[in-house]
Amino acid sequence: MKRIIIHSQNGISPLMKKAAEDAAREFLEMFPEYKNSFTIEHRDDEHLTHKKISQAEYDALPDDNYKKLFVKTADGHWLVPYESMEWFVSQATEGSADKKIDADKLTRLRSDYLKEQNSSDIVINLVKEKFRTDTPKETLYGLTIGNCFSISAEACADEDLFKAIFIHESGHIFNATHSGRANIIEDAKKGVHCKNPSDPLCLMGDDNYDLLAQEYKQRRSLGKSPFCNDCIAAIRECMANMPDLTKEVITEEFSLSLPVEPHNDKEWKRDLRAFYQSVAQRDGFTYKEDRRAENYLAKVVRTDGSSLSIEANNEYHVALGATDKDGAEDTPSLKDMKDLVKYAQSKNSGMSFGKDNNPEFNARLMIACLEAKPIPLKMRNNPKVDDVFLNKLSLETRNHLKRALSTRQNVPIPYRGR
Ligand SMILES: [Zn+2]
Ligand SMILES: [Zn+2]
Repeated sequence: MKRIIIHSQNGISPLMKKAAEDAAREFLEMFPEYKNSFTIEHRDDEHLTHKKISQAEYDALPDDNYKKLFVKTADGHWLVPYESMEWFVSQATEGSADKKIDADKLTRLRSDYLKEQNSSDIVINLVKEKFRTDTPKETLYGLTIGNCFSISAEACADEDLFKAIFIHESGHIFNATHSGRANIIEDAKKGVHCKNPSDPLCLMGDDNYDLLAQEYKQRRSLGKSPFCNDCIAAIRECMANMPDLTKEVITEEFSLSLPVEPHNDKEWKRDLRAFYQSVAQRDGFTYKEDRRAENYLAKVVRTDGSSLSIEANNEYHVALGATDKDGAEDTPSLKDMKDLVKYAQSKNSGMSFGKDNNPEFNARLMIACLEAKPIPLKMRNNPKVDDVFLNKLSLETRNHLKRALSTRQNVPIPYRGR
């Protein structure tokens, strides 16, 4: 798992914290195959237990370089280095007459500390006031160094602008515009950005940041992702090489429709279509697809009149459902699950189980993962198999699952992601 930690300075409103979390989720939605590998956490100074020590504790510290980093507070305590936003901000405002935060110093301090701790966390310094700039006319909204970015709530007072900047800086964290790719522009001051001429512009562009909120809203209203395909591809490449991430297909039970997700590429349904067309052909069944639907929506109708329904809102988020020959709702068969496992394997992915799936559905999916050839498919959020769970299953599935588990017992499930 990879942690995204949003560390807020005192005085940041709950609304702003929520906007930050929403923006982080929106960023991750562009990479559904990896999104379950991330957790988003909030950190606030007021809930930190080790943020300051008393004068007596401070006096007892050995006189070394570490002690020099403690900062005295107005209430007579000492701030512990690298713990609170208060401490980071104190370092980033040191020696300045206007008490404005030096964004570069703030971000670099945190980024260097993460590196020193061998941490793979991503930390966002969410600060209240504006950052210092060379001239009062300029505004600095956010800045990324290594695995940290800092963002100013006051500079991004408009919520859309705040989210747009948050998503932009997240793109920098994952090397969206690395120097090896096409369509980039490098500026000594602003760094490397995207110059893909997509319309509206990609949020990784370097033009006027005031317009970013506009581009963000326009892209959203057109059903496009915040980033262009070049940036998305570059981030995918970066994520594929991150050891904490596992690529997965998320599988849910077909119920109401899945939410529609933005897509830049109109051809995103191609692989699913080809896969289920070949499944239908292999078994001598009929393939039907509603090509006008925004989500991928298809049916494999069997000769006895029963059918398998497949819905997907991207290549990595699939819902399966079935009806029996009389049209009544049914759980997809083990064979259907085994086909889905083959699809996940074709995408070099593991399997992530949807939250609300019924036990019979999950048990069949689990058997298919355990019995995958040549090696079991890596699973996430799969149910805990205990007596309570087993008693909810049909006799056949219960026995089969027990068998599959005992065969696989003591066999480590190898890493199959990426
Ligand atoms: Zn940038
Ligand atoms: Zn781009």
